[in-house]
Amino acid sequence: MTSKRLIAANWKMNKGVAESQKFAEEIKAYTEQNNIISCDIVICPPFTSLDAVHKKIDGTKIKLGAQNVHFESCGAYTGEVSCSMLKSCGCDYVIIGHSERRQLFHETNELINKKVLKSLDEGLIPILCVGETLEEHQDHITEAVIDEQLKSCLKHVSAEQIEHIVIAYEPVWAIGTGKNATSHQAESVHNFIRKKINKFTNEEKGDRLRIIYGGSVKPSNAKELFSSQSINGALVGGASLDEKSFIEIINSAL
Ligand code: PEP
Repeated sequence: MTSKRLIAANWKMNKGVAESQKFAEEIKAYTEQNNIISCDIVICPPFTSLDAVHKKIDGTKIKLGAQNVHFESCGAYTGEVSCSMLKSCGCDYVIIGHSERRQLFHETNELINKKVLKSLDEGLIPILCVGETLEEHQDHITEAVIDEQLKSCLKHVSAEQIEHIVIAYEPVWAIGTGKNATSHQAESVHNFIRKKINKFTNEEKGDRLRIIYGGSVKPSNAKELFSSQSINGALVGGASLDEKSFIEIINSAL
């Protein structure tokens, strides 16, 4: 199992250019002063701040990610952004299939699959989000939901390509609600995902897969979540908007 954790900040539709730059400068100073090498850090600002943040973190250990991407290379897709455009802004990662994209923008597993395949082809690392809704959680069908999401979203992804994916387990009932899964709950789903990936790939790829948890991660619960070795990091929304709390979460992961 991979031991180096990854902590990703998903700013969603927050922060303009100046505010993004200030945040990037502070995180950069923190990582340099504290020589943070045992944890990977990814910042996912809105598209409009990608270039500005990249200029601040270029040459450091902090990586850049986008929050969405289109599956075509170019063309008449008003408002969309391609993988090569993201790469030209310095992105290494892209969040795909976030529950807000699924729920508010009606993204299906099929569409998400196209984005995953295109990102892998173009050398971007997808942070593929999966997770059950509150209703599905209460109906005890979490594993069936995750199974379907993995099967559909990873269709035609080769065993070799699986190594270049990060899975974010994000129970929808925990996102932005202040109610997080316990390390026990997350660990059980992470182990289920590993088993499934081992089965898909006919190899032990699932055991080495980086699976991070997302859903109301904050300084007060990060240590408990990271007590599980199966939780390889976090995708942090609300608590990543404040430099201090994001740094506290990173410190809990070291
Ligand atoms: C997210 O946006 O992926 C997320 C987990 O948000 P929050 O941390 O605010 O629940």
